[in-house]
Amino acid sequence: MKYNKNNIFAKILRGEISCKKVYENKYVLAFYDINPKKKIHVLVIPKGEYVDLDHFHQEATEQEIIEFNKSITHIVKILKIKDGYRTISNIGQNGEQEVAHLHFHIFAGEKIGRIVS
Ligand code: 5GP
Repeated sequence: MKYNKNNIFAKILRGEISCKKVYENKYVLAFYDINPKKKIHVLVIPKGEYVDLDHFHQEATEQEIIEFNKSITHIVKILKIKDGYRTISNIGQNGEQEVAHLHFHIFAGEKIGRIVS
């Protein structure tokens, strides 16, 4: 899968665009969404160059995959989220993915509402 190094999250990772950081380690960066859809809206991205979840699972190392997954729980703890939350990852055209660098949204702080009812 072709990764475009000019996507906005790649620029954030390179420090060319600023972000309001929540957490960072060797594998991931988490920051607040610029246009929050819920009271708490945080994005979690891997530091590696992966377009989406499928690309990530095809090409990332086991360690990257484990660290990325585990980071979600760690970030939720840092954010002191109570009463639950939702993670989603939009993939491709039908998934309405806007930024072509893998990211998970964390929505919290209020009732998120049902996606499928
Ligand atoms: P997608 O639709 O690709 O799943 O989500 C992309 C998300 O990135 C959107 O929620 C959008 O508000 C957020 N976003 C786009 N550009 C920026 C930016 O420059 N900084 C931050 N913090 N978030 C951004």
